[in-house]
Amino acid sequence: MTEQASETREIRINPIVPAESVLVATARSMRPKKAEEPAPRDVRKRSDTCPFCVGNEDKTPPAIAVYPPQGGWAIRIVENLYPVLGDDRSQSNFSFGLQQTIDGYGRHEVIIDHPEHGAAVHEMDEAHLQMLLRAYRERMAALFASNPRLRYVLVFKNFGPAAGASIAHTHSQIIAMPVVPENVAMEVGNSRAFYRKHHHCIFCALIDEALTFEATLYDRASGAIRRRINVGQYVVERGEKFIAIKPFASRYEWEVHILPLVHRSDFIATPEEDLADLARVLRRTMARLDAVIGGAQYNYFLHSVPHDGSEADNASSYHWHLEICPRTSIPTGFELGSGLFVNTISPEAAAQRLRDAPIDA
Ligand SMILES: [Zn+2]
Ligand SMILES: [Zn+2]
Ligand SMILES: [Zn+2]
Repeated sequence: MTEQASETREIRINPIVPAESVLVATARSMRPKKAEEPAPRDVRKRSDTCPFCVGNEDKTPPAIAVYPPQGGWAIRIVENLYPVLGDDRSQSNFSFGLQQTIDGYGRHEVIIDHPEHGAAVHEMDEAHLQMLLRAYRERMAALFASNPRLRYVLVFKNFGPAAGASIAHTHSQIIAMPVVPENVAMEVGNSRAFYRKHHHCIFCALIDEALTFEATLYDRASGAIRRRINVGQYVVERGEKFIAIKPFASRYEWEVHILPLVHRSDFIATPEEDLADLARVLRRTMARLDAVIGGAQYNYFLHSVPHDGSEADNASSYHWHLEICPRTSIPTGFELGSGLFVNTISPEAAAQRLRDAPIDA
């Protein structure tokens, strides 16, 4: 337990991206924002008018890939009808004074995660989730192979109106892009600098701390206990090969990250036999979030090493991970203006509640 008053008010430095630090302010009177009651999510099993529902396949572009390959589909991947990045128009990048653009080349695909319209991730069985993770892996690899100009493939899921899902049917998205997103570039660059200095991966170090580290910090003058740290308190779920942890500097109240226990920089290299354990850790983590928040609406996204020619250099220092960000409030002007996220629940207390959540098996 962190030894401190029940109220916390401190700025926590994100160890990987210091620019993304967080104000943890748990005092009720301090709360600069109130939890919004999100619009309810669509829990129907089927909708006649939904283009992603079984029987409406003609309302989407033809499937790029289908899982399983034979019989009725369990997962279906199609082109996004309104892509944010699109076909190569072979325009050279534009530059005039301070105006610079990079041609918006890329691919934007939709993964229809499950035939059932409103299915949440924790409601899907683990064999299905394993297939979904395999679909992520195979599409990422196929997109990188399709065009050497693609440097990053972002896999993400928006679930529920509070998370910006414009179509209610449960789905993920894949955007292949010609640039490395800035937040990934910062993680990659900073973890590489850490590796040069310490000769080990910062993400592996965080996992080690989460599993073992305990310390009591005394006040030098009085000898009183200033703080007692048991970093093991950040573990939310542990599998054989994957771990779910609550980041010490969580931007969102219920943010959880899942990482492979054994160092690996590229999600594409995840062996098939590991995906079963990942599916289990993902399902159980989402079930915990759903039990605690009561109908979680969230974004999750996969951060994996960019394929921009530097992947071999970053193989030892970068560690892929899945960031799960449940949306329980709307960012305030203070957060947008300062870039400082405000978290009103201490990450230690949130991790405890997630561990204690009653879930099946
Ligand atoms: Zn549907
Ligand atoms: Zn590592
Ligand atoms: Zn990340």
